[in-house]
Amino acid sequence: MVLKTKSDISRRLLRWFKAHGRDLPWRSAFSPYTVWVSEIMLQQTQVETVIPYYRRFLSSFPTIQALAKAPQDLVLKQWEGLGYYSRARNLHRAAKQVVEAFNGRFPDQMDALITLPGIGKSTAGAILSLAYNQPFPILDGNVKRVLTRLFALRALPGAGLDKILWAYSASLVPSDARSFNSALMDLGATVCRPRNPVCGLCPLKTLCQGFEQHLQELLPLKKKRGPLPLRVQSALVIWKNKRVFIRKRPVKGLLGGLWEFPEEAIKKANLTGGTKRLEIYQNLGFQVNVGEAILKIRQTFTHFKLELHIFNAEYHSGSPPRDKNHRWVSLAGLREFPFSASHKKIVEALSG
Ligand code: SF4
Repeated sequence: MVLKTKSDISRRLLRWFKAHGRDLPWRSAFSPYTVWVSEIMLQQTQVETVIPYYRRFLSSFPTIQALAKAPQDLVLKQWEGLGYYSRARNLHRAAKQVVEAFNGRFPDQMDALITLPGIGKSTAGAILSLAYNQPFPILDGNVKRVLTRLFALRALPGAGLDKILWAYSASLVPSDARSFNSALMDLGATVCRPRNPVCGLCPLKTLCQGFEQHLQELLPLKKKRGPLPLRVQSALVIWKNKRVFIRKRPVKGLLGGLWEFPEEAIKKANLTGGTKRLEIYQNLGFQVNVGEAILKIRQTFTHFKLELHIFNAEYHSGSPPRDKNHRWVSLAGLREFPFSASHKKIVEALSG
């Protein structure tokens, strides 16, 4: 890419950003803490979904010290429904590290930033460029799409393509990295959209190789994916004295640290709702009478589809575990606990 084209791209994008840049809540101050929280929330998630979560999160944890001090349940509760919960757990762990190892001041160097949980090269680049205005590149989903089209890159996604994209992103960043990276993200979100890019409104149209070659709808190329496997699970709403039994999922793993109605894999043939059965559920350690099916929930995760069958059940006998990860809770008390999207639906169904 010749130098003139590079500076032309930067100049056009900066001019476009002045007139069309989005007014987003985390852009009012550009503090490292708010940039970081917003960048983590925006991973795999649309801006419109993030904004109310961001506002609630910042009002609960206005500073990194407040976040570091909070119990994990409260952090997950504020994240409830946003998905990809490892982001919240890492945010919490990283906040503690910044407070303990960096006196509560967010590092302003790449080497230090990428030692923090959940902060990779692109998030670190966003913090350095947006909060500290240092000339670091970023490479989130929006930026990847814009650059892939702009330079008509026909490689399949993977490390090879990422390497090329990082080089392009780094070569374009001007001294006003904050505005430039914000402009790239905004162009990807509002003009160079995943589907139906609005090339007619794009400031880069006359420089865009993808547009010139009529490839804008085809790029970026996607790897073909087979159908997602189906997991069939059951969950039990176990009653005892008007309270229900919930437990905390192991911190490591899918939906780690969230609470659940005890769940386990079942064979579809065993879905005989209506027959009263005395069961000892695996990992439960006590006996229950399983009653009627009360709900069926379908949910799609990144790597599988879930079909969750929920049954009412009555405590029968045996000793349920008694510790901080297993609780008997009133219906009203359930609202205090963070649940995954599917188990939140169970809470809502029980609350009528
Ligand atoms: S001209 Fe079209 S494809 Fe090229 S960067 Fe602009 S919106 Fe994207």
